Amino acid sequence: MFKALLINKNETAQSVSITDIDESQLPEAAVTVNVEYSTINYKDGLAITGKSPVVRKFPMVPGIDFAGVVESSTSDQWKAGDRVVLNGWGVGEGHWGGLAQKARVKAEWLIALPSAFTAKQAMAIGTAGYTAALCVNALEKAGVRPEAGEILVTGATGGVGSVAIALLAKAGYKVVASSGKASEGDYLQSLGAADIIDRNTLSAPGKPLQKERWAGVVDAVGSHTLANATAQTRYGGVVTACGLAQGMDFPASVAPFILRSVALLGIDSVMAPIALRQAAWQRLARDLDGNALESISRLVGLSGAVQAGEDIVSGKIRGRVVVDVN
Ligand code: NDP
Repeated sequence: MFKALLINKNETAQSVSITDIDESQLPEAAVTVNVEYSTINYKDGLAITGKSPVVRKFPMVPGIDFAGVVESSTSDQWKAGDRVVLNGWGVGEGHWGGLAQKARVKAEWLIALPSAFTAKQAMAIGTAGYTAALCVNALEKAGVRPEAGEILVTGATGGVGSVAIALLAKAGYKVVASSGKASEGDYLQSLGAADIIDRNTLSAPGKPLQKERWAGVVDAVGSHTLANATAQTRYGGVVTACGLAQGMDFPASVAPFILRSVALLGIDSVMAPIALRQAAWQRLARDLDGNALESISRLVGLSGAVQAGEDIVSGKIRGRVVVDVN
């Protein structure tokens, strides 16, 4: 038996509780992992609260990320004792996830835990941090160099935003953080933000073309924020869109694309091919130090996961929440 957070749903409501589960109930797959740490991402908050239909079947163990040690494997890709990380692939949505002491998943969904990180540090990064790395790598690949000008990071105190700031600053970019949390200026500066703007300056409907400012954007917020950020992007600049904290809509015009050659790049972490994942994790291992991870994250037990899920969807979390499932 092992402990897991389990989401159940009947005709009227969903419920979430810590449940004892027999190993035989785990889904069919090649690799059984003893989970050490998981984490609460925005999507886990949506699953736990039921605020959006993230969970596709019930009962479901949430948790789109985990890090731990392989207990057994019928695939020759992994053997007992290997240290592994999982991000995405629909785990915690359609396949039982990481907010549990054990998980059973496909061999090809796992990557080796980078030697630079402990399992706890890997979960301080989690999908949010790995997505930030996908965004920064995409900006670089699109040719945005530090000398091109300022990079805007929206949703700055969140998980994606915090890690994006640290990675960009480390690579020599001048980062401008957009945040609604006026009290977190010191935190954002300690991560490497050179300047901070109030997110209200971006969140209301704006003109299709605005004063050019950004060489690049990492947007975790969507909606009017993404539209305004795109309208303020400089000629030939690049916007990476990965989130929807303000909304799923994109109330914009084509003007920045056809008059300023702005590029809008979509960033998905769930089905990202293995080569992009490995490049993202290599960058994280190279550029994120232990001190940054300490300041970004805090730890809760499995019993704190539901509250953390509620807090993240109401925008109350700073940085990342790591879950010690044991
Ligand atoms: P967090 O909740 O940690 O961060 C989101 C941040 O956005 C908040 O901290 C807040 O920052 C800001 N925010 C919250 N609500 C609003 C609002 N109504 N209007 C404007 N800003 C708001 O989430 P994550 O960083 O983990 O994820 C960010 C987004 O990225 C989510 O939408 C998530 O679903 C998405 N995501 C997408 C992935 C992908 O594969 N494409 C992978 C990972 C995440 P502040 O208070 O500083 O303004």
